[in-house]
Amino acid sequence: MPWRNTNDPYKIWLSEIILQQTKIVQGLPYYNRFIKKYPNVQTLAFASEKEVLKLWEGLGYYSRARNLHKTAKIVVGNFEGIFPSKYEDLIKLPGIGDYTASAISSFSINEINPVVDGNVYRFLSRLIGIKIPINTSKSFKEFRNIAQILISKKNPSDFNQAIMEFGSLVCKPKNPICKKCIYQKTCYAYLNQKISALPVKIGKKKNKERFFNFLIMKSPNGDTVIEKRINKDIWQNLYQFPLIESEKSLDKKNLSIKLKENKFFNSKKNEFYLYQNKSFIHKLSHQNINYSFWIFDVKNIKNNQTNIRNLKMFPFPKPISNFLLNYNW
Ligand code: SF4
Repeated sequence: MPWRNTNDPYKIWLSEIILQQTKIVQGLPYYNRFIKKYPNVQTLAFASEKEVLKLWEGLGYYSRARNLHKTAKIVVGNFEGIFPSKYEDLIKLPGIGDYTASAISSFSINEINPVVDGNVYRFLSRLIGIKIPINTSKSFKEFRNIAQILISKKNPSDFNQAIMEFGSLVCKPKNPICKKCIYQKTCYAYLNQKISALPVKIGKKKNKERFFNFLIMKSPNGDTVIEKRINKDIWQNLYQFPLIESEKSLDKKNLSIKLKENKFFNSKKNEFYLYQNKSFIHKLSHQNINYSFWIFDVKNIKNNQTNIRNLKMFPFPKPISNFLLNYNW
């Protein structure tokens, strides 16, 4: 990986933020695009948030991109543009938690801070037989303390990379390679046939179901309407078509009622129909977004219009960027 051959804290930070909750194959092209467009923290700080979100489009968990931008500005304003390497400075920056601060400080200046990611949780819980559920706040302290004892004081950087790689390549979630594992003779899970029982996780709550009705205005001269999502909610600061959120899925009749209630516009005068005659689903970590696109053929748009030619300049959440890729205006 390109970021493994560097001790530049800016590049390590960028890669760690991009790879949070993201697979390497998916994150790598984004990392390359970011490094190309923003080769240092100054270029990132002077970009607009809209540009940063646009480059991030499709990667999800957009608070990471917003924090990325905020952090770059703070580094330029408070650290004279020199990206910090020390844990104590890093941990104060937006979007940087213990894992990221430990990774940057150990990989860049060999500070003795253990990284505890999902791979480390799994490997240590099996090796030592730790039964605390790993998705609780209590577990973090426990695992970090153990990793702090184990970490090589001479070469914390290699130790951290090795323990994560070991968890990812050998002590894998499914079918770990126990037969060739160097810990076979001492591993608690292997000796006690507890491999599939460890690590322990407590049941996840059911995802919340949400219903989004996107209203797509379409005028003969190619105008439409989009708006910025300004509320503290998913996709904050990204753009969307005007939205009516409902408690359940809406058919045409019920949507007409909602439009009236919302005084959105006089829908009677406008013909509208459901795109592809169906709704779609987009699954996020804690909620499922059931969404539909309603197409309105209107004569003209008087307020807040944007021409469809300009839509490519705006960052959109994945359901909308997919729609834009496929929809024939
Ligand atoms: S023996 Fe198996 S379960 Fe134990 S550490 Fe090695 S790979 Fe993981």
